[in-house]
Amino acid sequence: RIAVLGSTNMDLVAYTARAPGRGETVTGREFRTIPGGKGANQAVAAARAGGEVMMIGAVGDDAYGTLLRDGLEHAGVDTDLLHTAEGPSGTAHIVVDDTGSNAIVVVPGANGVLTALGPGEIAAIAASELLLMQLELPLSAVVEGARAAHAQGVRTILTPSPVQPLTDELYDHIDLLVPNEHEAAELSGQDEPHAAAQILLRKVPEVIITLGAKGCLYAARGGEPVLFEAPSVTAVDTTGAGDTFVGALAVALGEGRPVAGAVAFASSAAALCVQKPGASTSMPYRSEIEAS
Ligand code: ADP
Repeated sequence: RIAVLGSTNMDLVAYTARAPGRGETVTGREFRTIPGGKGANQAVAAARAGGEVMMIGAVGDDAYGTLLRDGLEHAGVDTDLLHTAEGPSGTAHIVVDDTGSNAIVVVPGANGVLTALGPGEIAAIAASELLLMQLELPLSAVVEGARAAHAQGVRTILTPSPVQPLTDELYDHIDLLVPNEHEAAELSGQDEPHAAAQILLRKVPEVIITLGAKGCLYAARGGEPVLFEAPSVTAVDTTGAGDTFVGALAVALGEGRPVAGAVAFASSAAALCVQKPGASTSMPYRSEIEAS
């Protein structure tokens, strides 16, 4: 089983020819509300890719909270440890332009309430094979989850997004770090992915730096870094590409696939995701991944 300790947000997405500059108003073409949050997205991606998934987190007691919970359950994600907190759910305000690029403001809402884990969460993590985490929950909860997992030999995967400086206390409990190019540069102080990977390997034993359309760079301590190319596709919306990649990666690793096979599976899933609008709505099912 895969446990996801992370955020649920309602994505409020405006599609526009071009994103507004500072102080500018542009008229958009289309608006959608789509269940999201990096945690929930990774949970849905993993469930659709064929994983048995449990979501640990919190939604608000507003209408979005109900929709978010329903969305996860509909995807087959276990929500027994998805709490309902007083106040608004998390929201992400997203602008997608005609090149498929996005700009995002996240307001944490209920996600910010989860500062510590209870015995139920700790037990659920301990009973899993893998724990997926991101940085949209309070760092105290992330550190606690990572420590609990590590203590039980549960493999931990961290997506360091939104990127922020991390303590050794957290790094020490991470088995695999999966930053995108920008996050890798921020965390390592090195723009070049190979150089960034070498710095990050001082902190964690394995790193996958995702490089958008260029694919990803895998590096492990004591081994040669390997560049995996992404399938060549036409991107219409890259929102959720990284989360789809990680969710599918976790499923493949959990099934015992070697890294190269797991990355190929994850890359196929992410390439399918970028060809459709939205995040959770565009994540592929296992049959589609295997057919691609
Ligand atoms: P994030 O979405 O977190 O910013 P990336 O942009 O690096 O992360 O994308 C994550 C993964 O999604 C990439 O490693 C790649 O496998 C896939 N991907 C992203 N953009 C494209 C694209 N234009 N074509 C094919 N695959 C893509």
